[in-house]
Amino acid sequence: MTHIPAVSACVDYLLLTPGPLSTTVSVRSAMLQDSCTWDTDYNLGVVEPIRRELVRLATTEEFAADYSAVLLQGSGSYVVESVLGSALRPADCLLIVNNGAYGARMVEMAHCLGLNHHVLDCEETARPEIQDLEELLIKHPEISHLAMVHCETTTGMLNPLEDVAAFCQQRGIRLIVDAMSSFGGIPFDIGRLGIEFLISSANKCIQGVPGFGFVIARRTALAACAGQARSVSLDLHAQWQTMEQQEGKWRFTSPTHTVLAFAQALRELDDEGGITARHQRYQENQRALVEGMQSLGFTPLLPAQWQSPIITAFYSPANPEYRFANFYQCLKARGFVIYPGKVSQTECFRIGNIGNVTLQQIQQLLVAMKQACYWLEGSR
Ligand SMILES: *Cc1c(COP(=O)(O)O)cnc(C)c1O
Repeated sequence: MTHIPAVSACVDYLLLTPGPLSTTVSVRSAMLQDSCTWDTDYNLGVVEPIRRELVRLATTEEFAADYSAVLLQGSGSYVVESVLGSALRPADCLLIVNNGAYGARMVEMAHCLGLNHHVLDCEETARPEIQDLEELLIKHPEISHLAMVHCETTTGMLNPLEDVAAFCQQRGIRLIVDAMSSFGGIPFDIGRLGIEFLISSANKCIQGVPGFGFVIARRTALAACAGQARSVSLDLHAQWQTMEQQEGKWRFTSPTHTVLAFAQALRELDDEGGITARHQRYQENQRALVEGMQSLGFTPLLPAQWQSPIITAFYSPANPEYRFANFYQCLKARGFVIYPGKVSQTECFRIGNIGNVTLQQIQQLLVAMKQACYWLEGSR
């Protein structure tokens, strides 16, 4: 007799948590099929079109031939670790921009992998300044690579990718971007920005289900990773070579169902009108959310000009009775799941905007939020 409880069919709340997030029924339905990982139906029919589509989404025709996409099992962090552990030679030196939990995670990886590195530590509510990067470069001329998170999901901060990319291009520094929570939801051209490695995952703005991440990188940069990896499973070059030479084959067992869902998610991104249209939807949702929350008395953590349309952090209510767990349960009972805060110095909570979420659902969330506030006031 098993002790595994049956999954409750009636639990159907909206995930306002940026990864995993709310997906469409059609994306989830795409998983109702088993695939063979060495058959051409799967490799040539599903994996290879995905790799080509990712490059097409990331850049323009002018640069597309310079780039290639590699898919890798695991959550997004596995792919970040694979890039850092494969791209940095013993003589290289990495500068990591840290203004949140995901920047800090790259610092932790650099430590663990034994990489030469320096850190530009910003406040979690501040952005890196080019002048600070310049000063670090004068002090440490050995710096060869720079790694930065694009949208720091900790706070919702949009880091200055254009400026940092221009700085790296001028100085010949190789740029690694953790665009986990922005790729597919914010338009930018990795070719024009000269990005060497861009990392993202299946369960963020492409709106797939979790199970793998991907790298879109310059072919020359991927080729230079040969023999550099500090891990067998996270060897980016070996994974790329297998996919290239065996046309879409994964080195080890592929998360086949997740990949089928991802293929469907890419078709739905195109149906929506591509990244520009998705960005617009996220922006409209985020603006409506902030306006509504402000009228209920909430204050966003970040100034509007730094705020991404991906996730928004709000200061916790000043009410001494406020407990995140109770607030969370109150909203969950009304069909909405939000995120706890992750900022170290400040009490806040976060609401994600990405996923299969409509403006109408944001309005419904605001109604539930108002009820949660009444309930909180009543508990005084
Ligand atoms: C989601 C995310 C990651 C990866 O997190 P996992 O839990 O490993 O999927 C990395 N960086 C950023 C900015 C993210 O939002």
